[in-house]
Amino acid sequence: MLRLHNTLSGKEEEFHPLEDGVVRFYTCGPTVYDYAHIGNFRTFAFQDLLRKYLRYRSYRVLHVMNITDVDDKTIHNARAQGMTLKDYTSKYTEAFLEDSKTLRIDPPDIMPLATDHIPEMVALIRRLEEKGFTYRKDGSVYFSIGRFAEYGKLSKADFSGAQTGASVDADKYDKENARDFVLWKAKKEGEDFWETEIGPGRPGWHIECSAMSMKYLGETFDIHCGGVDLVFPHHENEVAQSECATGKPFVRYWIHPEFLIVEGEKMSKSLGNFFTLRDLLAKGHSPESIRYLLLSVHYRKQLNFTTDGLHQAQASIQRLEDFVLHVKERAKDEAPSAEFEAEVKAARGRFVEAMDSDLNTSAALAAVFDFVRFVYQRDSQKPISGGDAHAALEFIREIDGVFNILRQDQGLLDEDIAQQIEARQAARKRRDFAEADRIRQWLLSKGIQLEDTRDGVRWKRIL
Ligand SMILES: [Zn+2]
Repeated sequence: MLRLHNTLSGKEEEFHPLEDGVVRFYTCGPTVYDYAHIGNFRTFAFQDLLRKYLRYRSYRVLHVMNITDVDDKTIHNARAQGMTLKDYTSKYTEAFLEDSKTLRIDPPDIMPLATDHIPEMVALIRRLEEKGFTYRKDGSVYFSIGRFAEYGKLSKADFSGAQTGASVDADKYDKENARDFVLWKAKKEGEDFWETEIGPGRPGWHIECSAMSMKYLGETFDIHCGGVDLVFPHHENEVAQSECATGKPFVRYWIHPEFLIVEGEKMSKSLGNFFTLRDLLAKGHSPESIRYLLLSVHYRKQLNFTTDGLHQAQASIQRLEDFVLHVKERAKDEAPSAEFEAEVKAARGRFVEAMDSDLNTSAALAAVFDFVRFVYQRDSQKPISGGDAHAALEFIREIDGVFNILRQDQGLLDEDIAQQIEARQAARKRRDFAEADRIRQWLLSKGIQLEDTRDGVRWKRIL
């Protein structure tokens, strides 16, 4: 049974989706005003892992992630660059999708743009107006937090003392400054706006996510995820707007990954430790090592992102890849021994138990490495059978279906392979067997298996 920590209850709970076997899952997507930084990608990589694990546990997952392509920052930056909002945000949406792909983060099933959903946002604001949760001031519409008795239930704060009638126009502010928040911002000179039935203007950030999530997932859905910095005010306000409009619970499980710090310090541009994915790749780090490091620490713990950690992540991946190579060489498509099969089953059990326990990734990976160690040890005592090797290989591939960290076949061209085989033959001729073996191993790591026959060397792709 999968258990998840729910911010709403403040406890770990058994996970039961509303509809048997189906998970409706919403994640706050990027605000596309710049390249996403590595802290943002911790959250996106975690969401990818959660989705892959839900699928591993046989759930059908419908994943919606929005793109915030209109807010204070996007408008400000587009203007500073002399670009239209659309051109400006398209550039960074594309960059985000490219970076996500590099980090092997799957795209969501549905990716709505905020600017494509203005009518839905207006309709939601109208519903709130009709029910008396709002007021207008200078062309803007505000949500009156004093009219929602449960305001504060997500961020666990008591707002009963908040000054009534005081309002805030900014999208982000502190709990100490909790006030009536803006649903619709009146048209301002030099800002993008839409002509609508509630007047000319643009949506506040919070209403965007309520409108888009409920449109695609229903008025009550299973999981809503976002970085811990979004709990207040963004998610608190989403709860207030959505529940007051529908009279129903909005989200059943709220999941919030913690912050990432760099070399023990808060990431900031002024400290010079602010990294985008592109910065890290330019320093020579592999996307896989970055993904591994982001996923290897439990998501509710702060992650200290260090160069050392990246090197360790790379070494861990290498260890798994060496193991894959080791068993791939011996693997035969036949049944494993009963004893070995029981070992695989036990390792899988430990992996699932750890993941079921609120996605405890460090314990899950430890179970995998324990298994690797066990197989090496067994193999050194008495070589494992082709069937055992095959079962071990399948198990690692199964795990990688969730973590997605192993590098695949790099797609060698036939002529590259021919060239390598020639180099290997030359090495053998001069009796440099170490070099010949290195070339054979290297080709195998690329999924190319060599076979020495009387008619010469034959090769086949095995991945
Ligand atoms: Zn959101």
